[in-house]
Amino acid sequence: MSPAMPARRAELDLPAQIAALEQARDVAMAANQAKTRFLMGLSHEIRTPLNAIHGYAQLLERGAALSPAEAGRIIRRSSEHLADLVEGLLDISRIESGVLKLNRETVPLRALLEQVAAMFRVEAGNKGLAFEYSAAANLPNWVLADERRLRQVLINLLSNAIKYTPAGSVTLSVRYRSMVAEFEVADTGIGIAPEDAERIFQPFDRGSGRAAGVAPGIGLGLALSRMLAHVMGGDISVQAAPGGGSRFVLKLLLPQPNILPETAAQGLPIGYEGRPRTILAIDDDPGQLALWQELLRPIGFNLFVAGSGGAGLSLAELGKPDLVLLDVSMPGLNGWDVARQLRARFGRDLMILMVSGNTSELVGAAGDDVHDGFVLKPVDQAQLFASLRRHLGLVWRHEGAPAATDAPAQLPAESQLYLDELARLARTGRVRALSAQLAEFAAAVPQAAGLTARLGRALDDYDLALFGKLLADQQLHQQIESEPTP
Ligand code: ADP
Repeated sequence: MSPAMPARRAELDLPAQIAALEQARDVAMAANQAKTRFLMGLSHEIRTPLNAIHGYAQLLERGAALSPAEAGRIIRRSSEHLADLVEGLLDISRIESGVLKLNRETVPLRALLEQVAAMFRVEAGNKGLAFEYSAAANLPNWVLADERRLRQVLINLLSNAIKYTPAGSVTLSVRYRSMVAEFEVADTGIGIAPEDAERIFQPFDRGSGRAAGVAPGIGLGLALSRMLAHVMGGDISVQAAPGGGSRFVLKLLLPQPNILPETAAQGLPIGYEGRPRTILAIDDDPGQLALWQELLRPIGFNLFVAGSGGAGLSLAELGKPDLVLLDVSMPGLNGWDVARQLRARFGRDLMILMVSGNTSELVGAAGDDVHDGFVLKPVDQAQLFASLRRHLGLVWRHEGAPAATDAPAQLPAESQLYLDELARLARTGRVRALSAQLAEFAAAVPQAAGLTARLGRALDDYDLALFGKLLADQQLHQQIESEPTP
């Protein structure tokens, strides 16, 4: 082979190389344009609520005659909108880096849908649109799902339907078959061109049609909704024609829980069952530490607070906390340094939740092994409590509910048979058989309702360790109580 050959081949390939370079340049330019579009959309989304907050703050400063309640409501709503936006961006990063964790909780599906429908009936009415909601007769009252994520996807599809429908109607219909729920959101709006049907699910893509002229948006909602549907074991599809309305269908696997919760969702907790848990909060901002105290002490947590990473590490030695709320950005030892030392010292028994208002701080370190979850500032109380429940395995007490003590109550002698069988099945880990046995126990011994409800919840969470512990406590109690007194 002559040495001139490779050069010749390179010469021959030159047009192909140029084509490849041009293609790479086009891809880079398209990505750049998408980024610019995204930043413009994002600044619009940030500016609107920020203007409202700024405007009302100025009015209040000047002592203008306006209702403080109304000003407070607008400022709160605007800041919630901003927090949602940040949360959406964080969600995308979490999903893309594979660290999004889903909750598995017992969700009052029918009540949730009624609530969502009521919200959108008002919104549709404000725009002069009709709104219809229908649910199949076999739709279960309760399902196992991540309530916040499910609500988020439904809200997104319904907001879009209203947003892109100038006149006519929006319909939500829900069907259920063999554990699969199908949520259909149909509208009579501007429709979607066939060539856009896939690209609108890409982040920051708003399609090539009229959407931009009809309503503002950043093109994140559908991308995030489809990603969430995928991680929840489902999908979103669309059928639409330009001008002929759109029909989005969300399909999700939503199994029913083994044991139904005795009461419906009861709002924020006032306490929890079992031994008091200890939380250590580490933050250099005294305001944030005060907030933790206000939120957590009334619910019965032992709370230690530390103003720096170093002080936090010493307090962790003394206080033996169950969970640490750890601010990421602190002078000196930052949150991640502290988390690494805590994990090395206490292992996985100590739960570590990283706290930050800056999503990039959380995303940057996502996927590591030194923390168990995030708490985003400003703190959403419902999310905080859901996270504490999950990480500490808590059973909340709610206002008006009888204070259920953890101490097992003496049950009739016939319970022993069921307890033994449950213990045997728990060792084999057979969840279905456990669930059937639990239902039999509940039916046969009504006095065991408290215990079977607690066991059912543990089973729904697939927490067989907790299940076994509850069972062992009860058996121990039965033995002690039945021992003859000397
Ligand atoms: P955004 O609404 O912020 O643009 P989405 O990701 O929610 O972002 O939607 C992406 C695009 O999909 C929209 O810009 C619009 O072109 C199209 N789209 C979504 N829902 C509808 C609908 N119900 N009718 C018509 N077009 C829709």
